[in-house]
Amino acid sequence: MADNSPTGSYVQMDAVDWVDFPQGLCAGDIKWKLLHVSPEAGAWTAIFDCKAGSSFAKHIHMGPGEYFLTKGRMHVRGGTDVGGDTAVAPGYGYEACNAQHDHTEFPVDSEFYMTFLGPLNFLDDDGNTIALVGCKQVLDAWNATAGG
Ligand code: ZN
Repeated sequence: MADNSPTGSYVQMDAVDWVDFPQGLCAGDIKWKLLHVSPEAGAWTAIFDCKAGSSFAKHIHMGPGEYFLTKGRMHVRGGTDVGGDTAVAPGYGYEACNAQHDHTEFPVDSEFYMTFLGPLNFLDDDGNTIALVGCKQVLDAWNATAGG
């Protein structure tokens, strides 16, 4: 990931290796690249590679987020069949502050880029917080697995 320079930063995305996204926060094969963190704004940006059949664990967006589905298909908030959205690449989506995503699923190999404002609150089935994942946590996780 590029340094947090006050003048800006650049990431050559194809020069960064994919890293496994932590199991427990997802099921199936999801890899990610952390592209930027902005601690001053509580914002972070990443790209995710999600194989067919993978999903993210239940979570609440503590702040809004915007995504660009670059490949594949993503069921958000259950997908269109149950009142959510089914994004089909190329697709853009906005998730509001406090959006709860019980099961974000990828029926085919997919990839999306997303900027998050504020942390994700990952929950267990009883609604207890498993992990509060914000700028610091994503940076720590990335540095631990990608070796900085
Ligand atoms: Zn979500």
